[in-house]
Amino acid sequence: MIDLRSDTVTKPSFAMRQAMAQAEVGDDVYGEDKTVRQLEETAAQMLGKEAGLFVTSGTQGNQVAILTHTRHGQEVIVDADAHVFYYEVGAMAALGGLQTRPLAGERGMMDIAAIEAAIRPDNIHFPETGLICLENTHNRAGGTVLPLSYMAAVHTLATRYHVPVHLDGARLFNAVVASGESAADYAATVDSVQFCLSKGLGAPVGSILVGSSAFIERARKWRKMLGGGMRQAGVIAAPGIIALTQMVERLAEDHARAKRLAEGLANIRGLTVDVDRVETNIVLVDVRDSGMPPEEFLTTLQQCGVLATSFGGTLMRFVTHVDVTDDHIDDAIAAAAFTTRMR
Ligand SMILES: *Cc1c(COP(=O)(O)O)cnc(C)c1O
Repeated sequence: MIDLRSDTVTKPSFAMRQAMAQAEVGDDVYGEDKTVRQLEETAAQMLGKEAGLFVTSGTQGNQVAILTHTRHGQEVIVDADAHVFYYEVGAMAALGGLQTRPLAGERGMMDIAAIEAAIRPDNIHFPETGLICLENTHNRAGGTVLPLSYMAAVHTLATRYHVPVHLDGARLFNAVVASGESAADYAATVDSVQFCLSKGLGAPVGSILVGSSAFIERARKWRKMLGGGMRQAGVIAAPGIIALTQMVERLAEDHARAKRLAEGLANIRGLTVDVDRVETNIVLVDVRDSGMPPEEFLTTLQQCGVLATSFGGTLMRFVTHVDVTDDHIDDAIAAAAFTTRMR
């Protein structure tokens, strides 16, 4: 099977498994796991923030950040297709008692003037604007990169209104590699960043949250409340260190393969792909013109040995990652061509 459903499906490398076996561990709730500490410090340093926190998942990292930044009854400005709004089980409302203010975005970017208009003035009727969330790369927009200049513009605005900004950087390193900007430069435009070790970077488990020391101290307590205080977590932090220090540069290969996949799929009659939009490792494909119901497209493609995922309506998502080779891309294009001819 060529699994293009997500970059979360990667299996840990031999080097990662070796690191897991040899990891020095301790009770991390007592702050005694040296491997976890090393991962947190390495991550904070790479992102130019004071401190880091190893969390169980991207969702936990985002929600811990949101809980730490806000108070019940506040409002959060967020892109309407953002993961924190669309895919996190309504946690902002359920756990944070927050009201969301979703704004339509373009390639993952909310209009700066629209953000400013959405920031609540002081008025007895209004909730307080507690937070602005950004996402880079932007998953539902198709892995698009938010330019540093855009993030800096949001930062300037947010600073003027004293509103903190959280970055859902689940795939921040894809943005770093695609744009040539540094992770630290991106992180400098926001108050906190969550990024995933378990996606393109290839680790089996976990995400990192970074921010100021005071922020991370409070976030650590929220993580504990959510059940994310882990004990000898060095065994899962060890592959995270490899992910962070050895797996970033190779993301460029995933991007090149995604581009080639997009070009190949765009040449197939019945499939619509915006090739220009493929900036990183995600390819969105619309099967509407194939005349095939989306489920039938996916099951036929699966019978040809290729897995993709439904992205709502007639849209499909294909994601490249460390376990996908050049040959897999050729085979996936051939399988998609065959699938559309089954109609
Ligand atoms: C995957 C993802 C997350 C959540 O990560 P999990 O580890 O699956 O909880 C958050 N934001 C974005 C943009 C993602 O793609």
